[in-house]
Amino acid sequence: MGFERAATIKPPPLVDPFARAITYLRVSVTDRCDFRCVYCMAENMAFLPKQDLLTLEELDRLCSAFIARGVRKLRLTGGEPLVRRSIMTLVRSLSRHLGGGLDELTLTTNGSQLPKYAAELAACGVKRINVSLDTLDPDKFRAVTRWGELDKVIAGIDAAQDAGLAVKINAVALKGVNEDELGDLVAWAHDRGMDATIIEVMPLGDIGEDRLDQYLPLSLVRARLAKRFTLDDIDHSTGGPARYVRVAETGGRLGFITPLTHNFCESCNRVRLTCTGTLYMCLGQEDAADLRAPLRASESDEPLNAAIDDAILRKPKGHDFIIDRRHRRPALARHMSVTGG
Ligand code: SAM
Ligand code: SF4
Repeated sequence: MGFERAATIKPPPLVDPFARAITYLRVSVTDRCDFRCVYCMAENMAFLPKQDLLTLEELDRLCSAFIARGVRKLRLTGGEPLVRRSIMTLVRSLSRHLGGGLDELTLTTNGSQLPKYAAELAACGVKRINVSLDTLDPDKFRAVTRWGELDKVIAGIDAAQDAGLAVKINAVALKGVNEDELGDLVAWAHDRGMDATIIEVMPLGDIGEDRLDQYLPLSLVRARLAKRFTLDDIDHSTGGPARYVRVAETGGRLGFITPLTHNFCESCNRVRLTCTGTLYMCLGQEDAADLRAPLRASESDEPLNAAIDDAILRKPKGHDFIIDRRHRRPALARHMSVTGG
């Protein structure tokens, strides 16, 4: 089924004041999750009341409005996108844009629900997904996620690959946790025909632990990996913060996401929408725009488009992530599970 709406006059594509075309929307469809990764959430997270969430129909309408304005890539994330009730209704509905305005519909998941949904995702036209996996050690996995089971995630990755989905593994580099294992994780991913990306931990949200205890600069990770592998720079860009190398020994692709130590903002093509309809124009800034009120104000998309225009005009030139070292606090109060990373 689709949440079809009457066509209106075609509004112009979204271009920000720094001439960056906005072609990529990341949507956090829920702030909830079946894991509590130590770098992402506090153990006793307070989640949003259900009535604050946009309905699946409203999420569809918002995403479709962005697609009508030139967004060509849509990533569903969270929280854990696949724990949102009836999420496949949204995926199926959004898939109607594939081959029209939308080039790619994808998601970032912790993999736990993939045994259930992988085949249906593939049937909806999803081609590639990112699965977050920080360690292949079941005990460490349980410690990092606070209660996740590695077996289930591996079964999810199996199901995704069996369904024909290309899988990229995302691993957050964590000091004293998986730093000695990242080479093995990359080799494992490449051996299974999956790309891998290593992410530097970001100071987002209070997690009840000390951020600096987790922080491991990727310059160090890369230098260590370079002792084991030949890392050849390649010119693969997604407009985001990842820089890619080809690992000569495995033939696989490896990305490094280093938002704290590198500047990637000049090519930023993305904005982020939360499950309550708040639009963040930059992952590293507080400024946000409420799209829920204009969405609900009218059946017509006119107020919504005006609010989107206003928000894109405020997209900042760059981020200013910092860890507040004196107070050992995160630089931004919101959690990654709100904006989806
Ligand atoms: N639950 C899904 C998952 O884990 O893939 C999607 C949402 S999760 C917030 C998206 C990505 O953000 C994951 O790869 C996760 O490892 C990463 N992440 C969460 N908190 C982070 C932080 N503080 N610094 C860096 N990456 C983080
Ligand atoms: Fe959940 Fe993903 Fe955050 Fe882990 S990183 S707690 S799986 S939202």
